[in-house]
Amino acid sequence: MTRVLFVVSECAPLIKTGGLADVAGALPIALAACGDEVRTLLPGYRSVLPKLGKTKVIETYDNLFGGPAKLRACKVAGLDLLVIDAPHLFDRDGGLYGDQSGDDWPDNPERFAALSYVAAKIAKSGVGKWMPDIVHGHDWQAGLTPEYMQTLGADVPFVFTVHNIAFHGNTSGDRLIGLGLDSARFHADHFEFWGQISALKAALMGAAKITTVSQTYAEELLTPEFGMGMEGVLRHRQSDLVGIVNGIDKDIWDPATDPNITPYTTPSGKAANKKALQKTFGLGQSDGPLCVLVSRLTEQKGIDMLLAALPALLDQGGQLALLGSGDPRLEVVVLEAAETYENMSVKIGYNEALSHQMIAGGDVILVPSRFEPCGLTQLYGLRYGTLPLVALTGGLADTVINASPAALATNVATGLQFFPITTRALANAFARLGALYVQPKIWKGMQRNAMKQPVGWETSAAEFHAIYASLSKAGD
Ligand code: ADP
Repeated sequence: MTRVLFVVSECAPLIKTGGLADVAGALPIALAACGDEVRTLLPGYRSVLPKLGKTKVIETYDNLFGGPAKLRACKVAGLDLLVIDAPHLFDRDGGLYGDQSGDDWPDNPERFAALSYVAAKIAKSGVGKWMPDIVHGHDWQAGLTPEYMQTLGADVPFVFTVHNIAFHGNTSGDRLIGLGLDSARFHADHFEFWGQISALKAALMGAAKITTVSQTYAEELLTPEFGMGMEGVLRHRQSDLVGIVNGIDKDIWDPATDPNITPYTTPSGKAANKKALQKTFGLGQSDGPLCVLVSRLTEQKGIDMLLAALPALLDQGGQLALLGSGDPRLEVVVLEAAETYENMSVKIGYNEALSHQMIAGGDVILVPSRFEPCGLTQLYGLRYGTLPLVALTGGLADTVINASPAALATNVATGLQFFPITTRALANAFARLGALYVQPKIWKGMQRNAMKQPVGWETSAAEFHAIYASLSKAGD
């Protein structure tokens, strides 16, 4: 048994902007089944604290980066949480990482330095009688943890998971003192990155083991195209880098028991959900495939490419229902497209229940991302018999079996992939999709294959369990 401290900036079901929260909510439970004991350290955002129920204050800090703070322990949704109640850092309107207009909070360096610093304090002294054997940080928000552990003399192995390398958590070198970092370590071997403080680099240099969320992304990260400037650092750490694909919470995403939908266990059960979804989105009945997309709206997600390729879907009777929010410019673009096309409908916002209805009611889940470390919606799609049509990149490459002639002949296909990641290739994929959709025997076979895929956490949690055991003094 290994005691593991998760350090993470979001965690489902309490607070979520993307897949990171899903992982933080589900992996500790899967690790418990392997015998490990995880406690999760999380910022106490304004919307989080009221959801915690009864908490116990187990630590107080007179001055945590500019104000007093408390550490609260509680149990929510099967998770052991340690929540940092620091009003000057986390009690505000707006988003987790930025204000209403989408600009980053100017004090983000301090806000997530606080998360990392408290993690290091726990690594050093524990909470109550509980001492972690491993500290496991996720993305740049937890990145400074090994630096603070070094300063405090906490000798606990640090594991780091890259969920998305696009975010570096960089800040000016002028903030060294304010962030309480050791200026002697402000150089290329530690956390200095082109003259700036980089929380991501601190983690990549300080981790005993680096994981990322799929094997293909682990390889892509070493290239300039995907490494986003960190490819050199990652090549330096290559021998300690491993890809472990994300799973999904199979209890929350189960078509047989999902309370948001008309439950089903076979592909034919999707029909009622499709009808309901068309109604929700104001789309008519159609003989073509209903494609759905649930996503943050950002450049990464290939929305512009999708809109350019869309006539290839709509011209053959296909439909598109899109749920998303994010970049205000992209929100306008998709709304305008929905005005143009009768068979496209858009809902802007974040809506968990609707996302379930879309995965259940769609024939196809689209993930046309330019890069995608793992991706989760294609995994939901598989489980619900909603065939993924995805770009061939990252975790999308690892989790979908393309309907190639060979895969169809051996009846193993679970979806469609397109490459290169261009409008033209996506339009071609829509044409292939149309051809498959009118062959019900093949389509149903693919749906059955998809629904049988092992998309849970079991295998991946066992891999984390083995990493922890090999690094921790406690061993197994
Ligand atoms: P990323 O982490 O890059 O956003 P993932 O596919 O890994 O992408 O995870 C996205 C998660 O967020 C999925 O659980 C998806 O269903 C959810 N999601 C994204 N946008 C929305 C939305 N507008 N409404 C509901 N859920 C959403």
